[in-house]
Order: sequence, then C-alpha cells, then structure tokens
Amino acid sequence: MDRCSFCGREKKDTNLLIAGISGHICDRCIEQAYSIVQEELGVHGEFDMGQIKLLKPKEIKSFLDLYVIGQDEAKKYISVAVYNHYKRLMQKDNKEDIEIEKSNIVLVGETGTGKTLLARTIAKMLHVPFTIVDATVLTEAGYVGEDIESVLTRLLQVADYNVEAAEKGIVFIDEIDKIARKSDNPSITRDVSGEGVQQGLLKLLEGSVINVPPQGGRKHPDQKMIPVNTKNILFICGGAFDGIESKIANRLNTQVVGYNAAKKVDRVDKDNLLQYVAPQDLKSFGMIPEIIGRLPVLTYLDPLDEKALRRILTEPRNAIIKQYEKLFEMDNIKLVWDEKVLNYIVEKALEFKLGARGLRSICEAIIMDAMFELPSKEDPGDITIGIKYAREKLEKTNLKRLKAA
Ligand code: ADP
Repeated sequence: MDRCSFCGREKKDTNLLIAGISGHICDRCIEQAYSIVQEELGVHGEFDMGQIKLLKPKEIKSFLDLYVIGQDEAKKYISVAVYNHYKRLMQKDNKEDIEIEKSNIVLVGETGTGKTLLARTIAKMLHVPFTIVDATVLTEAGYVGEDIESVLTRLLQVADYNVEAAEKGIVFIDEIDKIARKSDNPSITRDVSGEGVQQGLLKLLEGSVINVPPQGGRKHPDQKMIPVNTKNILFICGGAFDGIESKIANRLNTQVVGYNAAKKVDRVDKDNLLQYVAPQDLKSFGMIPEIIGRLPVLTYLDPLDEKALRRILTEPRNAIIKQYEKLFEMDNIKLVWDEKVLNYIVEKALEFKLGARGLRSICEAIIMDAMFELPSKEDPGDITIGIKYAREKLEKTNLKRLKAA
C-alpha cells in the first residue's frame, strides 16, 4: 500500500500522493515543506509585513512632498494619522493598555486635486497592499452592483491572497459623497443607493471579521470564503462633496451669533470654504453619524490654482514632463519644452476647467505627432517644443474630447 514517506498517511487519506524514486510525498507534506523552504531562505512575498518602517510624521510629509504638490494641511493630517495608525499596529495586545482607535481618514476636495494621489503615495511609502474602490458601484447585498465585501476581495487580490498583508493594507474609497443620503429626513422610505451602502460600509470601517469571496461577485457561488479582519486596515475616503460649501457657510453664519459675529465672518476666506469643513457639515450633506464617527480624521484639499498646476507639470518625482523626457530619451532623443509652452498648457487646463487631470491630455495632444513620427526617423536629433508648434497641435485637436477626459 502506498503511503507518504514523510507523514505516513495512506494514499486514501490524502488529496494527492506523488511518487518519487524510492518514496512518496503527500500534498500536505509538500505544502509544509514549501513553507519551510520559504522561511529558511527568507523569501517573503512582495508585502513583507515585518518590514514596515515607521517614519515620523515629518518624514512622511517629506515623502508626500516628492509626489504631491501643495495640500500641506491634508498632508499634515494624513502623516499624523498614518503614523498613529502604525503605532497602533505595533502596540502589543495588552488588555489593560489604552486602546488607540483607528484613524480612518476622509478627504474633502474638488475632483483632480490629489486625493487619490495622496492615498496612493502613502501606500507606496509603506509597501502595503493598496486598492481603490468607487463607492458608487457598491450596493446593499441583493441589489444590482457590487457587494460591500468586494472591496476586500480586491485588497486580497493585490496582496496575492496574503491575508496577513491584506489585513494591514490601505483602501481608498473614492466618491464617498455619492452615497450620501439624498434626503435630510432619515424617516423617509429606505434609500437604497445611499443609506444602505453607508450601513454596509460601517461594518468594514469599524473593524470586524468579514467573510470575503476570494473571486468576488456572485458568479462563483461555491467559492470558499476567506475571513478577513478589517481591524487594522486603514480606510481613506475621498469625495468632492459638491455643494457642501453652502452647508459650511450656513454653519459659520449661524454659529457666530453675538456682537462680534460680523467681525468673525469677515475673517472667513469665502473663496475656499472647504478649509472650515467640520464633521457636522458631512452630516448635513447626508452622511450618517455612525460613518462620520468612524472617519475621525477629516481634512480638505485646496483647489489647484495656476501656480500649483505649473508646479505639478514639472516638479513631482514622476511629473508628466519628466515622463515624456524619459520616453524620448529611450530613443536617444533629447526633448526640451519651451517655458512658454508649459505656461500655455497650464493656461489651457484652467480655461477648460480640467484641473490637474487635464494637464496630461493637453500635453498628449501637443506631443502625439512627435511621439508617432520621431522614433522612425534616421537621426532625429533633439527636439524643442516651441509655443507656435504647441498652439498648432492643440488647436488641431478636438477640444471637446479633451474636456470629456
Ligand atoms: P482626485 O482623487 O482628487 O480626484 P487625483 O489624485 O486622481 O484626484 O488626481 C488626478 C491626477 O492629477 C493625478 O494623477 C496627478 O497626476 C494630478 N494631480 C492632482 N493633484 C495633484 C497635486 N496636488 N500634486 C501633483 N499632482 C496632482
């Protein structure tokens, strides 16, 4: 009778028994041997959770500065939140100790001002699994759309199903404002799209063990669920919260009653009301108090002005302009942008109200022909993009298409 030469199990007690020259090995022993090999060789997956290097808040901010322009206030809040989050992870399980609460973050700011970029950069810094989900595709279980658990499916997937790594990952939930309650009156008939999803999200945010379908969706009803504890997953939520300025203004106006009220309101910077955002504004906007309570770190992003856009074009470590230069360099072409062109790109991005996202599409429109033609030229030499060339190329482009981008 065939048996595993390592554990002695009979063939019938194994899932698989592989024959060698003078012995056999069963599936279980293979797995065990594999993990011994991994451990002995010090091989870890891409996400080695023992390796998180805890940077101080100022160092975290300096790292963010390499990739994200401006947004100092948000960077400061995020740096502290991430620092505290990982301190909390390092806290030994001591029941008597003070329990540090999780510092999930909510970022309020116009679209294209760097919310996703901030979250992505933090994940890059920490080398932890990171995923972005759009709150608008999430629905309550049983409705068309993705179940809340799918958020964790994606995290598991990027973590290569390393549950331990996923449990320390970061999830960026975009467009959190889109699941706001449509009506301020909670007693109105159930609001499927908004409140139900918020309730569902609550389960994730507050930290609990959730059974996650490893393949996601409902297409694989037989899949074995993987329990994932969300206790140490950092959630960063972002949203534009269109119209929240009026709620903020209302609050600021009603709050400062009394004889020096007028003076206080005077000092309010009416052009950038988001900087005064407070939890109660999120509530007036339609977020349920429980969710707000689970997102204790609330901060805002500034709208990007001309100066910021100009810096975004060339300063970040992987600035768009640097990327094009690199692409051409690989063909031995030195690409130079005239200063005037750079200012022109910014001007157009502002004119089309495209924000930072538009910078890339405008650059692309200007440089496309050169990218198409130059690599096939015998001796392309160097190229300088001048203002006349840039205007010509951009005017030829269907601007409507740019606007939709
Ligand atoms: P949001 O999530 O706020 O809608 P993103 O972070 O996705 O915006 O920004 C879109 C793109 O615009 C980014 O990929 C980045 O190239 C650029 N960008 C936006 N804001 C900044 C910023 N503050 N610094 C550098 N680049 C930025």
